[in-house]
Amino acid sequence: MGLLADRLEAGLARRRQDHLYRQRLTLQSAQGPVVQLDGRPYLNFCSNDYLGLAAHPRVIAAFQRAAAQYGVGSGASHLVCGHSTVHHQLEEALAEFTGRPRALLFSSGYMANMGILTTLLRRGDHVIEDRLNHASLLDGGLHSGARFQRFTHNDVAALERKLAKASGVKLAVVDGVFSMDGDSAPLPELAAACARHDAWLMVDDAHGFGVMGERGAGSTELAALDCSGAQVLMATLGKALGTAGAFVAGTETLIEALIQQARTYIYTTALPPAIAAASLESLGLLREESWRRQHLAHLIRRFRHGAGQLDLPLMNSGSAIQPLLVGDAATAVTLSTRLGQRGLLIGAIRPPTVPAGTSRLRITLSAGHSEDQVDQLLEQLGACWPGT
Ligand SMILES: *Cc1c(COP(=O)(O)O)cnc(C)c1O
Repeated sequence: MGLLADRLEAGLARRRQDHLYRQRLTLQSAQGPVVQLDGRPYLNFCSNDYLGLAAHPRVIAAFQRAAAQYGVGSGASHLVCGHSTVHHQLEEALAEFTGRPRALLFSSGYMANMGILTTLLRRGDHVIEDRLNHASLLDGGLHSGARFQRFTHNDVAALERKLAKASGVKLAVVDGVFSMDGDSAPLPELAAACARHDAWLMVDDAHGFGVMGERGAGSTELAALDCSGAQVLMATLGKALGTAGAFVAGTETLIEALIQQARTYIYTTALPPAIAAASLESLGLLREESWRRQHLAHLIRRFRHGAGQLDLPLMNSGSAIQPLLVGDAATAVTLSTRLGQRGLLIGAIRPPTVPAGTSRLRITLSAGHSEDQVDQLLEQLGACWPGT
């Protein structure tokens, strides 16, 4: 009833008609290579738990110990009295691991990106973002009041043209690994272009942290960029680390400015301390057990080789995200449903998350998967794919 209700109803009807209606799955188990859903097991190829740490016994035990010591809720924001020893230890460990002077925790990646961009930028500044950046980066850039521009995906020359035309404060922003395509930003070239034009580079490494680089420190490690090459490094804890929250790493000045000014840091309850403790344990596992990264890399190669033999529409990705390009939304949904009937959980990614006409199945691999599970995936894809 009423104008607003009519508008909402119409919006829902349009989404249904366009095959863009979203529905939540309701899991009955922990994250893992096999999850329980509607009373039956599914092989899970859609989580971002890239290292299989979300339900690791050591991570769970660390969470439980910290909950017993610190309680569940942090009770306040970081600036009031919600900041505890274990938050502090995690920040120090993340700074050390990423090779930056300091790190700062946020309650989520979305909030970190909003907080960073609105603190760094103001009216009259320039923010230049890759077209395929994560929504939180686009939203933060738009909200900052700076002049907002986008450049063609991974096109360093296009970025450089925009940097050359801009004057004053300039910030270039990219995903380290792009969340819906799985490909990587050309970070060394981007950093060089930024250096030539006195701009800062911000990297959101939500999908690279824990996966990329010799030690798993992420895309900036792989590109050998320290704080003078990528001045702002942000990554999330909810993906490879298997917990929740996010962090920003950079200079003392950057971190202090965020503590003083980032509204999404100041005006929100601190992450539960037990989450910080679990993240610290995960970080330990990530550092000790390089076999997880190696096994994941092996599964990625195995999947790409098999998919190539089946002539499946692989995208240009070397990461754990291995999308198969479908095109229209209805076909993507049909494929996802058909695979679901065969016991495989794979999400159909549609507009507005990806550009119109580029709907896809977003397959994600994890160190928790076995070779055999990847082979089952390939077999079922071969059986379901139109024309194979
Ligand atoms: C998941 C993600 C975020 C948001 O992080 P949350 O902690 O889930 O809010 C930000 N950026 C990228 C690239 C992401 O993939």
